Amino acid sequence: MSLARAGIVTPLVGPMCSHTLSMPPPAMPGVAARVSHDRHLGVFVGDSRPESVAAVKAALQAKFEDKAQILTRLTIITDPQIRFQLLKCCVSTRPGFWLRTMSPSLTSDPAEWFDTRVRGSLSEICSTPLTDLAWDIATLPCSLGGCGLTSAVYTRNAAHYASWAASWHNITRMFPAAVTITHASLDTCALPFARGLRTAHRATEASCTALTDNLHQHPLPPLAPKNASIPAPTELSTRFPTAQKRFAAIAQGARWLGAFHRATQPHRACMLSQCQQGANFAFNAVPSQAHGAMLPMSFVTACQLRLRLPLSLLQGITTCVCGAAVDCYGDHCLSCRHLQTHRTPWHNLVEHAAAGMARHARYHVSHDSRRPRATSAVYSPHYCPDFSLLHGSSGGTHVLVDVTCPSVVTRTIVPASSHTPSAAATAAAASKLGVYGNVQPHVVLPFVVEHAGALGKEAMGFFKECRKKVPNELSDRDAARSTWSSWGFSNFYLQSFSVANLKGQGHFFASASAILRARGGVRLIG
Ligand SMILES: [Zn+2]
Repeated sequence: MSLARAGIVTPLVGPMCSHTLSMPPPAMPGVAARVSHDRHLGVFVGDSRPESVAAVKAALQAKFEDKAQILTRLTIITDPQIRFQLLKCCVSTRPGFWLRTMSPSLTSDPAEWFDTRVRGSLSEICSTPLTDLAWDIATLPCSLGGCGLTSAVYTRNAAHYASWAASWHNITRMFPAAVTITHASLDTCALPFARGLRTAHRATEASCTALTDNLHQHPLPPLAPKNASIPAPTELSTRFPTAQKRFAAIAQGARWLGAFHRATQPHRACMLSQCQQGANFAFNAVPSQAHGAMLPMSFVTACQLRLRLPLSLLQGITTCVCGAAVDCYGDHCLSCRHLQTHRTPWHNLVEHAAAGMARHARYHVSHDSRRPRATSAVYSPHYCPDFSLLHGSSGGTHVLVDVTCPSVVTRTIVPASSHTPSAAATAAAASKLGVYGNVQPHVVLPFVVEHAGALGKEAMGFFKECRKKVPNELSDRDAARSTWSSWGFSNFYLQSFSVANLKGQGHFFASASAILRARGGVRLIG
């Protein structure tokens, strides 16, 4: 065994048999380097002496600095989407092992340092410095409407306590003679490991309380944990095999609530929409040419929109063609009817994904809106649908599909959409049904995807129906296009809608900003 890589167990006898690390003879190989701390299976171990604590922290800091070196090399990559995926999957997760295995008091400073580096890198990708709220949202999982980055600071307490909860029972059973401390005494034990365990427990318990106390104050994401609870240290006689996932979900759920509480009303509307199922799956997409890749400017705009950062495309633009002031988050542009026509490519991208899913589920798709004389006129006299599913309803009649991507931040909808999930989608679906009028015995399916990502009730229902028809499988063609981030029907199509929606918004804001600049609605800077 290499002395540099692992601690050595030396059978000591007589006066040298002591639990302090300074006792082995100084001449023993490796002793000089490990009087203050040691390393076992990569974990830095010390005792409660101040010099030992300082040495362990310094060793961990050096390890994190080593792990962060890759950030310097990341700048070589010019494509922001690829850079983001590497930052998310391969860099931000690096400190995890040490956060799980070492006490929170030891990991605190190095974790903060590592987060600062990751945040700096994400700011570069987003082309603008991240606000604290943006960083909070970026480090939430995509299933809660975040971008899926891992924050060392926010995850370390739950990760450390979960490690003990998952393993204490096994440790005491495997080494009954060596471990003389019982779970009942973990509440009072003065050893450093027990103090660290209790610190981690207190922080995780506080997240749990924040979550349960606020349950009725704000709406919660559908995937936030229900009936959250954290076992006390004295309850660790039972094994908690899923502790890592469970405690992390509680900590993240509490963070979502904290961020929502601080957010402005339009920001809350966006947060509620983007935490619905699949809404933020674009940030899970490993970009390949056939699927998931976005233009660099579209990806940067997508990050800025989802993190509520000022849009680079609108920089310097103050006035809209309608005369109203243009805000930096794009709320006015998304609402203004003078810019409506520029939404067509965005709409078409989502329509393409929806029609592709229907075809895959073996519906007969008729693209009515592309035909000069749509056959749909016979069964839908008032309005031409985007496409029809011929004989696609349960009763064998036609289904008229209308795709629409309403904004959740328009002045009229924001009071509702900031506290009721899918309020914008529900309103858009109702207005579509009104436009079509009575088409019985045929059926209108408003396929609504909110701009911040949520699928409307009918769209989600149709997605689930399609999935049932093809037992969650992909066609050979789609399977060849998918990457490991989009295996299976659900992942592939939810990711497709999310990517199409954000690609479309990238296109919309590029067009809108070009129009506004051409019309002179620009304040010259400098
Ligand atoms: Zn306007």
